[in-house]
Amino acid sequence: MADAPPRRYADGEVVDAVVVGTGAGGAPVLARLAAAGLHVVALEAGRRWDPARDFATDEREQAKLFWTDERLSAGGDPVPLGNNNSGNGVGGSTLHFTAYTPRAQADDFRLRAEFGVGEDWPLGYDDLEPYYDELEAFLGVSGPPDYPWGPPRRAAYPLAPLPANGAARLMARGCDAFGIRTAPAPNAALSAPYFRDGVGWRAACTNRGFCQAGCSVGAKASTDVTFVPLAERHGAEVRPGCFVTGFERDGAGRVTGVVYVAGGPDGGVERRQRCRAVFLAAGAVETPRLLLLHGLANSSGQVGRHFMAHTGLQLWARFAEDVRPYKGIPGALISEDTHRPPDADFAGGYLLQSIGVMPVTYASQLARGRGLWGDALREHMRGYNHTAGINILGECLPHAGNCVELSAELDARGLPKPRVTFTNGENERRLTAHAERVMRAVWDAAGARDVWAFARNAHLIGTCRMGRDGAAAVVDADGRSFDVPNLYISDNSTFPSALAVNPALTIMALALRTADRFLERARRGEG
Ligand SMILES: Cc1cc2nc3c(=O)[nH]c(=O)nc-3n(C[C@H](O)[C@H](O)[C@H](O)COP(=O)(O)OP(=O)(O)OC[C@H]3O[C@@H](n4cnc5c(N)ncnc54)[C@H](O)[C@@H]3O)c2cc1C
Ligand code: SF4
Repeated sequence: MADAPPRRYADGEVVDAVVVGTGAGGAPVLARLAAAGLHVVALEAGRRWDPARDFATDEREQAKLFWTDERLSAGGDPVPLGNNNSGNGVGGSTLHFTAYTPRAQADDFRLRAEFGVGEDWPLGYDDLEPYYDELEAFLGVSGPPDYPWGPPRRAAYPLAPLPANGAARLMARGCDAFGIRTAPAPNAALSAPYFRDGVGWRAACTNRGFCQAGCSVGAKASTDVTFVPLAERHGAEVRPGCFVTGFERDGAGRVTGVVYVAGGPDGGVERRQRCRAVFLAAGAVETPRLLLLHGLANSSGQVGRHFMAHTGLQLWARFAEDVRPYKGIPGALISEDTHRPPDADFAGGYLLQSIGVMPVTYASQLARGRGLWGDALREHMRGYNHTAGINILGECLPHAGNCVELSAELDARGLPKPRVTFTNGENERRLTAHAERVMRAVWDAAGARDVWAFARNAHLIGTCRMGRDGAAAVVDADGRSFDVPNLYISDNSTFPSALAVNPALTIMALALRTADRFLERARRGEG
């Protein structure tokens, strides 16, 4: 592949597109448009990290990867933000995601049709399947030769599974006792060195287990080592440290430029990049916040509405044998046998996942979830090396009252802080109770002692839903705003329902599809 020369665009130059954010939703769009020869600029609020130099095997050091701008969290079950939910830097939340990448199943997209609740998507599994295939090959997903769940696959995972860690082996033992099928989990982390045109060689996973602290060897397929270098090889410009605050528009309401502050909240310089189109990929809190700040793309009244966060109950336990929970890819084993449990008293379902955990994270969960402190916490942590967890990733219905709004409080930039309101509904509570029964039985069969549950919700989802009808949705199935024809959204905010799987692979698949639809429209001469 011939390298395009590195590009630097002047603010006054009109580029084909500006992409706001370089995480799971932004970086694939950037790479796709650049590869098609378009002039594209990414504006990224966070800084650019050098994995080998900046990512340490040290949880405390890695707090720099969290999005720590103040957000208010409200509702009956306020969602912890910061380290729990979004990342900061070129690569966005993929810098500290744990690389678990199952596909959604076909029925995930049809919750309302199947159960009469939730929301159906304006597209289905067939629309995303080619992108799932492409992504698994591009990212280098390690997975089992025969994945037991979901529609038949057209291609096997490109790499063999990563080694099972302690929690995976124990979960397999417990599940076997009940006839619950398990498989090595698909993970976007390399079980062998891997080459891709435009990216080069990436090294294999060293199983050090600090994926949430950033992968220093580049084995984990965060976008900073995959789509961002690919985009740059094709001439895209990535500008770190650029926080987008607004938009310029023409008389017809189309976006003509993006306003941003370069250089941080203190002493930053306001600048403008002119453009023909904008792709918002700032995540499910910052994307609706930007739109709400400017009253943009919201004739449906749906911007900020229907915020969702996966049900994510964790069940921790102590075992006689050494587990060493810091070691190996954290989510090494999966079961989707609970995708649609026959005895369910709720809509949707969940998957089961083994989990490793870092010591500081575990200690803070013990303090928050079990109220352990001082000597009691120290005493419990002496058994850290014998700890293993199982986690669920479960459906969360889109409730109208769960939302992202602008609060009256201002942040360091003088902008209204976002307020995230979230309360689990009856469906989430029933699903969680079902999952706790299953997980307790699994851990009992595996020989666990001192089992305790940590209730949580994970991932920031919804808030700019896609749909068929502009009266009820913010964007269409192509990610295009119904109100502003050259504004697209490509991130976790467009999901109309949560899906019973981790979101990153589906966000990336949607992003590539959005970019392809945009390019098709451009080729037809449609603006
Ligand atoms: C600890 C952790 C573990 C996870 N593990 C998994 C997993 O194993 N599997 C999985 O599928 N998912 C996982 N996730 C979730 C997954 O990482 C996210 O769902 C996904 O990255 C969200 O993609 P996004 O594009 O919506 O947002 P992000 O990836 O968060 O990208 C948003 C980007 O926009 C930038 N930005 C925001 N506002 C502005 C602004 N005003 N101007 C300029 N830039 C801006 C941010 O800096 C960021 O780079 C995990 C998340 C966390 C936090
Ligand atoms: S376990 Fe593998 S993917 Fe995760 S940080 Fe370590 S080397 Fe990277």
